[in-house]
Amino acid sequence: MPTAPLERTYRTNAVVLRTYKSGEADRIVVLMTEEAGKVRAVAKGARKSKRTAALLDSLAHVDVQIYRGKGDLDTVTQVQAIDTFASIRRDLDRFTRAASFVEAVDHIGLDREPHPRLYRMLVGALRTVDGPNQTLVAAGFFLKVLALEGLEPVLDRCVSCGEAEPLVSFDPVNCGTRCSSCRSGIPLSDEGIRICRLILNGGLAAALELPESPVLADVNRLATTMFEHQTERRLKSLSTL
Ligand SMILES: [Zn+2]
Repeated sequence: MPTAPLERTYRTNAVVLRTYKSGEADRIVVLMTEEAGKVRAVAKGARKSKRTAALLDSLAHVDVQIYRGKGDLDTVTQVQAIDTFASIRRDLDRFTRAASFVEAVDHIGLDREPHPRLYRMLVGALRTVDGPNQTLVAAGFFLKVLALEGLEPVLDRCVSCGEAEPLVSFDPVNCGTRCSSCRSGIPLSDEGIRICRLILNGGLAAALELPESPVLADVNRLATTMFEHQTERRLKSLSTL
């Protein structure tokens, strides 16, 4: 298990999850860092410097030097761009998709809890959205993150009675497929099930090469709904602890 850097000043790669104004000239940035988990840091003078503001815009992938504060708030002391994601910023569809990944990571990432695999999945997903083959990127990202968090869906049997086939729908509450007798939730074709399995069994690269078809849109919607249900349920269960 990696540990958060103990030095007062550390350098890490990070994605800017969101930013908000602070005082007259500063901006607070919420970062998903590679080494230190989710970090809140002030970028002093960021609202006076166009360069810094652009570098630390939400979705930016940057190399930052950070001074660790005594409380919750660190300070960004240096910043350099790694990816600019030009295609994402030009295209509203791509931007909306990328924003949903950033929001998801903001939702499940914990303050100062290193989670380098989640960080790397986010960067991978953003690079995919920025590139040519992005039809299944939402399904790829949400299914992989669910699996990473130990919430992998059941796709080989009915989540209610255990029947292996025919599987005809997906139950987002119980996170699994259902047979024709127990059918409830979202209708799911054999092809859709096959694609979900492919993504979860190491075939994401192959899945991203699939030609566009209505079933891909169904799988994207399904994975997004699944993610929303599972994370909401988990956040609720965490809040009752
Ligand atoms: Zn059943």
